[in-house]
Amino acid sequence: RGKRAFIAGVADDNGYGWAIAKSLAAAGAEILVGTWVPALNIFESSLRRGKFDESRILPDGSLMEITKVYPMDAVYDCPEDVPEDVKTNKRYSGSSNWTVQELVESVKKDFGSIDILVHSLANGPEVSKPLLETSRKGYLAAISASSYSFVSLLKHFLPIMNPGGASISLTYIASERIIPGYGGGMSSAKAALESDTRVLAFEAGRKHKVRVNTISAGPLRSRAAKAIGFIDMMIDYSLANAPLQKELSAEEVGNAAAFLASPLSSAITGAVVYVDNGLNAMGVGV
Ligand code: NAD
Repeated sequence: RGKRAFIAGVADDNGYGWAIAKSLAAAGAEILVGTWVPALNIFESSLRRGKFDESRILPDGSLMEITKVYPMDAVYDCPEDVPEDVKTNKRYSGSSNWTVQELVESVKKDFGSIDILVHSLANGPEVSKPLLETSRKGYLAAISASSYSFVSLLKHFLPIMNPGGASISLTYIASERIIPGYGGGMSSAKAALESDTRVLAFEAGRKHKVRVNTISAGPLRSRAAKAIGFIDMMIDYSLANAPLQKELSAEEVGNAAAFLASPLSSAITGAVVYVDNGLNAMGVGV
């Protein structure tokens, strides 16, 4: 049987989540995706209208099939957590079962189990503010959407993950080196995500034989990255300074994710794997 993957954080064809879905599909996996509720309508209608058809083409010429798109909001674990103004918001009230617990119940009802969990989402409302100017609310929101969201997804999915399964998240080197401009507590959120990768690798490995790794990716002009505002500068910086002087493609991250989700990496867990043209290894720019 082919593997079944759930990829959380796909709302267009520009980000890492989409590229990971493609690499997993090319390797024969069945693809389920989780899309942020406010982005769901436009993503689904674009899919239906064929807007992504060109980017759905796999190496063998066939089109990637997404078996099902689930609405989700990874900052809410169960219906009781959802504030009234969100519940009644027009973009949310049109969908149902999008808290993490309900999402996993739906996937279980539809498919029974999954093999691969991918977390490709982040949100920091104050990302453009330096840490010294970040509010408590903004900082906690960044951690909630970008770090605890992975803890929660893994916690809820683990009971329906097959032994030998794997989970992957996406992180950024701002967790361990100073990247001015990656603010709002997002650097803190990535540091938490990387630390949690180790602790969760232990807990999920011992209890469920599931591996937990994170990819520290280089810069990509995704929707989220464009919102931060310095992505072109980061791409230029990498091009000028990394050991491999080429623009990083999302596909390269997708392929690394497919490796980390496959038995080829069966002894790798708790790792931060750099997929960044080697930029992390440089000490000074040259
Ligand atoms: P993206 O915009 O394609 O993906 C981010 C996704 O998160 C979006 O689809 C958005 O709808 C979703 N999202 C936001 N809040 C959510 C919530 N509460 N619940 C559910 N979904 C939510 O951008 P991307 O850059 O591909 O980001 C994917 C991952 O890659 C993120 O973790 C990001 O930090 C990481 N990353 C990106 C870069 C880069 O340069 N683009 C570099 C390193 C790491």
